[in-house]
Amino acid sequence: MVNEAISNLPLFNSSDNKASTWAQVILPLAIPKTYTYTIPPHLQLKTKPGCRAEVVFGKNKKYAGIVKSISEKKPEYETKEILNIIDDEPIIYPQQLALWQWMSDYYMCSEGEVMAAALPTHLKLSSEATIVYNETFGEDFSELDNEEYLVAEALLLKKELKLPEVQQILDVNHVYPLIKKLIDKHVCYVWEAFNEKYKQKTENYVMLNPDFSSEEKLNEILNNWTKAPKQLELLLSYLHLTKTEGDVNQTSLLKKSGATVAQLKGLTEKNILLIQKRNVDRVKNLPQKISIDFELSVAQKTALDEINIIFSEKNVCLLHGVTSSGKTQLYIKQIEAYIKKGKQVLYLLPEITLTAQIIRRLQKNFGGNVAIYHSKFNNNERVELWNKIKNGEVKIVLGARSALFLPFKDIGLIIVDEEHDSSYKQQDPAPRYNARDAAIFYASLFNAKVLLGSATPSVESYYNIEKNKYGLVELKERFGGIKPPEIEIINLREVAASKKGKVILSPQLNAAIGNALANNKQVILFQNRRGYSPFLICATCGFIPHCDNCDVTLTLHKYSNKFHCHYCGSSYPKLTTCTACGTVNWIEKNFGTEKIEEELENEFPANKIARMDMDSVRGKTAHDSLIKLFEQQKIDILAGTQMVVKGLDFENVSLVGILDADGLLSFADFRANERAFQLMEQVSGRAGRKGEQGKVMIQATKINHPVLLFVQHHDFKRFYDFEIDNRRRFFYPPFSKVIKIILKHKLKEVVIAAADTLGDALKKDMNDFVVGPAAPVVNRIRNLYLMELLIKLPKDAYMLQQYKKVISNNFNLLHAEKKFRRVVLIADVDTM
Ligand SMILES: [Zn+2]
Ligand SMILES: [Zn+2]
Repeated sequence: MVNEAISNLPLFNSSDNKASTWAQVILPLAIPKTYTYTIPPHLQLKTKPGCRAEVVFGKNKKYAGIVKSISEKKPEYETKEILNIIDDEPIIYPQQLALWQWMSDYYMCSEGEVMAAALPTHLKLSSEATIVYNETFGEDFSELDNEEYLVAEALLLKKELKLPEVQQILDVNHVYPLIKKLIDKHVCYVWEAFNEKYKQKTENYVMLNPDFSSEEKLNEILNNWTKAPKQLELLLSYLHLTKTEGDVNQTSLLKKSGATVAQLKGLTEKNILLIQKRNVDRVKNLPQKISIDFELSVAQKTALDEINIIFSEKNVCLLHGVTSSGKTQLYIKQIEAYIKKGKQVLYLLPEITLTAQIIRRLQKNFGGNVAIYHSKFNNNERVELWNKIKNGEVKIVLGARSALFLPFKDIGLIIVDEEHDSSYKQQDPAPRYNARDAAIFYASLFNAKVLLGSATPSVESYYNIEKNKYGLVELKERFGGIKPPEIEIINLREVAASKKGKVILSPQLNAAIGNALANNKQVILFQNRRGYSPFLICATCGFIPHCDNCDVTLTLHKYSNKFHCHYCGSSYPKLTTCTACGTVNWIEKNFGTEKIEEELENEFPANKIARMDMDSVRGKTAHDSLIKLFEQQKIDILAGTQMVVKGLDFENVSLVGILDADGLLSFADFRANERAFQLMEQVSGRAGRKGEQGKVMIQATKINHPVLLFVQHHDFKRFYDFEIDNRRRFFYPPFSKVIKIILKHKLKEVVIAAADTLGDALKKDMNDFVVGPAAPVVNRIRNLYLMELLIKLPKDAYMLQQYKKVISNNFNLLHAEKKFRRVVLIADVDTM
């Protein structure tokens, strides 16, 4: 009987008489591999890759894992049984499973860690999870079956239950499928600590009591109406609205009829109208229209044709378009073409550039076909979107890097805008993936195309063009024929000689700001440090306040009047007297955005000045409202960190100032030049619009630094040639693959000994490729001491996989030693 069932599954070559099959299950944990479970006979048919399986792991912890594959080969160890299969249909497609596996292999983490990152909380169940009663469900349990009813009743009383409690109520072992049904019916939801508490969004809807739904009954009421004429008016308005608009919600009824809540209450008390609380879709339902309301310029049209020619032979094309060349318009045309073919499109942006500006633009052109996905979304919004993307209802997703994990049904195109941006790389926790690179792999599974876009392409991507792996299309002219900004480099050394202390605004820049403001233009100033003063030093004894938990100087912040640590987030009261010598003799070293703001307020008291950095845009909408105010020219000068650099188009900015170029060029990192070039070039691009050439002033002391000269001439090609030469010489990417190994422990001597042991072991197998161990510049964060090793490996896919195995094995060996058991080991592949 069982065999018959099995033989119908395509995965089995029937005839042989094996009754048992096994499933490899991915558990959402940082355990190194998948685990095999026995599929009991009654679940043989239900078990499909991509479905969630309820399993016990460890002593008695339960998890909802994902079935990765099914095999009939008996494993060599005893296996536990799958308790139940939660889903009737897989919740992810085979392409997701393939992406997870690739990420786990490539970025040296477990598939479980990828799974934990990929699935929305509501799809993750474990015995630690709490099930919470959904208050808006009400108490109508008539639709529930016996078991569901029992749990719902208990939830109604206790408001929340742990999974083991649900088991007790039902006196059965496997409860996940039942919980899934209760979640689907909106009786409850999953709540995990650390995540925001669920709030279902509801609206009141007005309904006619079904008893009066017949024409006769209704006429009877209307004809016999005596008192309360206002209520009658309201009732008539309601009847009219149901005819014209269908469902009527309370707010719009009251607005359109001009009635009061009291009058509506009168009607509900008479039991003529009923109020029903309804859950509302959080994902806004705009009409699914497409209306492209612009024409491409000749240059843009040519570029679009070139992209399509490249796509006929290659899967990846880089669009190198100078700032303001109108790349977004090209993307929109390209998206239109793909969704007309019935394909889905993923449009990736760095989180910070995912602003209302770009969202509005896409919604204007594609209406409800577009869904937005980013980290500010809550869990409910995530699940709603998840389902709509999986069934193909949503055609276009605009999102930050994690949007890559969504279950696309049939993706045709992935756009990675600002492809050079380092925020595509996830730092912590695992998977430490680069969404641009993962997107290229993911697209290949669908035979889809990838369009990378940037005004300042990454060295790696540009190298792939040289090697003929990617195609290249250039947009060299700014839209509307605006000239690139003129760039002036100001020698701070000459200025500083005549002024004491660090110069914030040189006389030249100061005059230029005044000039711009006099002409009713706006100004952007860029400094890559937030806060007031990055560190203070006692002039008497040289004492510098440091964080207690980290090896970093404390930044003075004016808004809080406190010292803040930018690494662990702790804050300290501002010191008046020196802790070491007791004198009051502080010197403020260097300057952050707050100090710039203060200086500007002194210099230009009549103008409106605003600051844009992590501190000033903490709220959900603060970033967008600041951008809006600047757009509407209610702000004259905007000073900020790299937040002001990215992806924003302003019409009226004539001057951009880069206050401290040295700070950008002095990082001890092989990507420092690249990042400095990109930032300066990008921020320069904010200057000049509408037929007027903008101006950029760069303040620096190392005025002959080659990168500054490349920026001055907007010469990406010369920058690339210079940089690729460095990379080749020192065997850095794109000529090698780098893996950074980070060790952490609360005792300095332990972490150093561990790093030495690991370093020695790795050098046995790959001596030439190991650099270090060494302590990083900041060698203690959150009370953990750090050590690092850098491994530069040749680019050979097979060898790379072998070396990664060597690293993993050595991690295990190190952890096997008792004294090193608690050392945190991290491998960061393609570190940024
Ligand atoms: Zn002192
Ligand atoms: Zn700290």
